[in-house]
Amino acid sequence: MSLTVVGSIAFDAVQTPHGGRERMLGGAATHFALAASFFDEVRVVGPVGDDFGDEEYAVLHGRNVNTDDIEHVAGGKTFFWKGVYHENMNSRDTLETELNVFEHFDPKLSQASKDCDVLFLANIFPALQLNVRKQCEKARFVALDSMDLWVNIARDALVAAISEVDCVILNDSEVELFTGEREVVAGARKIMEHGPSSMVVKLGKYGAALVTNDDSFWIPAFPVDFVADPTGAGDSFAGGFVGAIAAHGGEATPEVLKLAMAYGTAVASYNVEEFGTERVARLTAPEIVERVQELKRITSFETPDIALKD
Ligand code: AMP
Repeated sequence: MSLTVVGSIAFDAVQTPHGGRERMLGGAATHFALAASFFDEVRVVGPVGDDFGDEEYAVLHGRNVNTDDIEHVAGGKTFFWKGVYHENMNSRDTLETELNVFEHFDPKLSQASKDCDVLFLANIFPALQLNVRKQCEKARFVALDSMDLWVNIARDALVAAISEVDCVILNDSEVELFTGEREVVAGARKIMEHGPSSMVVKLGKYGAALVTNDDSFWIPAFPVDFVADPTGAGDSFAGGFVGAIAAHGGEATPEVLKLAMAYGTAVASYNVEEFGTERVARLTAPEIVERVQELKRITSFETPDIALKD
């Protein structure tokens, strides 16, 4: 099996109530790829500039991520994003976005990337997502992420891309913006009317909900002791989630989807404990398994046996 991800590779500057970094490796495709690398062979497609060097490649290679389809734009600068988190750490403001090489990004997939079994379209211009989706004809499971910007300025293109994927992953405020619905299940089902058979609604530090045509499944965030930096939590959730589905042959049965929610939650919980990719870059498989088991323990209970009064 193989998994292809298309999206941003970045340098991020981040400030949180617990500190900051002026320049660290980031980008949606980077966070996704590192997380998904525990589950499958991952190929990452995205552009970088001259400032992206051995140190950055080493992080990806350290997790055996295939970087053959990272496009080096000679003379260019890597995408740069700067954000600051509010005191509650659940919301942030973007201070700067320098698109740089991302501005004219036209994804070029090698045959190996096109032949993937599972595809993740990270947050990029939706027309490019659709273009990539069409190139990966054999993919058995395709998931897509997006953001408020595209809902606001490229809604039709976003709907067109959504209609060609199996699963959409958005946060609750994006679902509300897209559908006008405040309630998670109702909003998700409106999005699913465009075609996808499932949707994940991320709820930040409150966890995530999986919505299918006839059911929903809810999982809390793993209760970590300390959050240093939430950047990339959504993308590492997606990496664990989509990765787990890839590990099951791309077959997204209801049981596999629920288990995938737990893996996504576990990987994301490690991501937030340190800045950027620092923690996931040295994460181990047993650590992921430990948190998946702990999630099961803290969310299961016996069937109620208390005789209630009328
Ligand atoms: P997350 O915290 O999971 O939403 O992802 C944060 C990552 O998304 C950061 O590492 C940024 O580099 C990247 N990012 C921020 N803004 C954009 C954008 N407009 N397009 C693509 N990637 C972005």
